[in-house]
Parts: sequence; structure tokens; C-alpha cells
Amino acid sequence: MEAKKIGVLMVYPVMPYLLEALESRFRVYKPWEADDKQAFLGEHSDSIQAVVCGTAAGANAELIESLPKLEIVSTFSVGLDKVDLVKCKKKKIAVTNTPDVLTDDVADLSIGLMLCTLRQVCAADRYVRQGLWPKAEYKLTTKLSGKNVGIVGLGRIGLAIAKRAEAFGCKIAYHSRSKKPEINFEYFSSIVDLAASSDVLVVACPLSKETYHVVDQNVIDALGPKAILVNIGRGPLIDENELVKALVEGRLGGAGLDVYENEPHVPKELFDLDNVVLLPHVGSATWETRKEMADLVVGNLEAYFSKKPLLTPVE
Ligand code: NAP
Repeated sequence: MEAKKIGVLMVYPVMPYLLEALESRFRVYKPWEADDKQAFLGEHSDSIQAVVCGTAAGANAELIESLPKLEIVSTFSVGLDKVDLVKCKKKKIAVTNTPDVLTDDVADLSIGLMLCTLRQVCAADRYVRQGLWPKAEYKLTTKLSGKNVGIVGLGRIGLAIAKRAEAFGCKIAYHSRSKKPEINFEYFSSIVDLAASSDVLVVACPLSKETYHVVDQNVIDALGPKAILVNIGRGPLIDENELVKALVEGRLGGAGLDVYENEPHVPKELFDLDNVVLLPHVGSATWETRKEMADLVVGNLEAYFSKKPLLTPVE
């Protein structure tokens, strides 16, 4: 492998550590440094054999079509919603992602969102900083321990959330496309029924055509004013307009959100609500995990161009 001759397009500046690791091995194309991104891509399209992308920007059909020498897409994410898998398959382009290494962080943060939303940790912190405590005690909030936790998508992350929530004495139930025979948690084939029996509903499934707005007005109404919704999957899994309306009107108990429909834009109507916790898509954003993700991206490209088996191929 004459790696330095292999052209890798990094779609956006994903992480300095990853950029350095790629630049020490490959010829890296950085469109964000160009005045005219389209012209830059056009100029180098014949030299690009690999694309590195992530949650902020992926590899859509247009990009894939514009790179005639493209052989592999390596995404710095476990989610594949920003990669046109159909187009890749058709053109026999390999795809890799970063499963498992981020599971613990995302599950930890999901529990953090549950606690912060129910116990209003962020609002209580603001209360202290604003000097309001000497005037009156902070209002009472809601307990997490012992609550019914419903999980939408009991995969790697969903199971890790379940394990953690069990340690809080919570009763776990889940919804996915099929019942998992090896799992003892209660299964709901209907997400609305799961919501109706949950105090906390956590969304942890992948975004696809099938799951777009899987949490709609019916699911939100089934949760009701005493329950909360936590989203660590992807923004478009929830109908955000309906969510905002329900929260503003007090028809939903609260929400802990890491992801949004139109990132990095977050509905301003949510900014003043104490029962809403807003994070800027940081589920996997720790030094430890991001380094492991970056190592997987590089390892997959090295394996591919040395004709070795991919570390984490997307089948
Ligand atoms: P995974 O192991 O593939 O699990 C996904 C689960 O979702 C599977 O158990 C699957 O079960 C279920 N599912 C798939 N389609 C479904 C549908 N139509 N309705 C209901 N359930 C469905 O994936 P993972 O590693 O746990 O990651 C899950 C997602 O988390 C990723 O795709 C990504 O979008 C998100 N994520 C977010 C962050 C963040 O920073 N916030 C970080 C990492 C990942 P069945 O096959 O039985 O349906």
C-alpha cells in the first residue's frame, strides 16, 4: 500500500486527532479550507478513493456520484443515516462505522439526561447561580428510582441503558421491530402502548425511512404530563414541532434531548423551560471514546487499502 498516494476526503473537520492520524498516512483533502468547496471537489474528484464523514455531514448520493474513484466510506459515528447505503451497495463501495466503542458513553449520558430532566439539575444549578436560593427553596421535582423506563430500540446502546436503569430499580420495557427471545424485559409491538406504560421513554433506535417521526403526537399524548421523553438517537426520530407544542402547553412532563431535527439549531421555545434539558449532540463526546472512534476510522481505512478484513464493516 502506497498510502501517501491514497486520497482521502474528510468531509468536514471531524476531530484534530483524526485529521493528524489520517494526514500521517494518506493524502487528505480538506474542502473546508477551500474558498469554493464545489470547485475544490471537482478539481480533486479523480484522486479521492475514500471518504471520512460523521454526524454533521455524511456521504449522500450526490457526493458519491461525484467521486468516480471512491472505494470506501468510513463514518465517524455508529449511525448510518447520513450515508447513502443503497448507493454505496450499488456501486460496491465499502462502508464502515464505529459501533460498540461509544455505547457506554451514550448510555451514561442517557441516564444523565433522565436524572437531569426529572430532578431539574440544570434549572436548579441556574437557580443557585442567579442568587435565588436565599429567597426561597427550589421547587420539588420527580424521582427516577423505581420508575417505568421504556426503550425504543433495544440494541447495543438500548441494552446498556437498560442495564444502568435497572441499577436504579427501574422496570424496563422496550419496543423494536421484533421481540428479542433472549431478553426478559416486557416487549411492546406498539410504541404508543409502550409510551402509555412508561414514566420515561428513551429513544435509542437508528434513523431510517421507517423510524422518521416514530415519536409522533400519538406517542407524546400517550406519555402525557407526568412522563418524560429522552432522545439520544437522532433528532428526526421525533416530530419536533409536536414535541415543542406539547412541552409549551404542559401536555408532556419534560424532555432530555441530545439531538434535534435541524442541528445545530434548537427550538428557542424550549430555552425557558425548567423541565427540558438541552445538550448539543454530545452522546459520544469524551476524549476516550472519540479517540477510539478515530482509531477505528483509521484502522478501517488501513485494513481496506492493505486488503485485510475491515474492522467494523457495515453489512
Ligand atoms: P444497534 O445496536 O443497531 O441498535 C439499534 C436497535 O434499534 C436495534 O435493536 C433494532 O432492533 C432497533 N430498531 C431498528 N429499526 C427499528 C424500528 N424501525 N423500530 C424500532 N426499533 C428499531 O445500534 P446502537 O449502536 O445501539 O445505536 C443506535 C443509534 O443511536 C444509532 O443508530 C445512532 O443514531 C444513535 N447514536 C446517537 C449518539 C449520540 O451522540 N447521541 C451516539 C451514538 C449513537 P430490531 O432490529 O429488533 O428492530
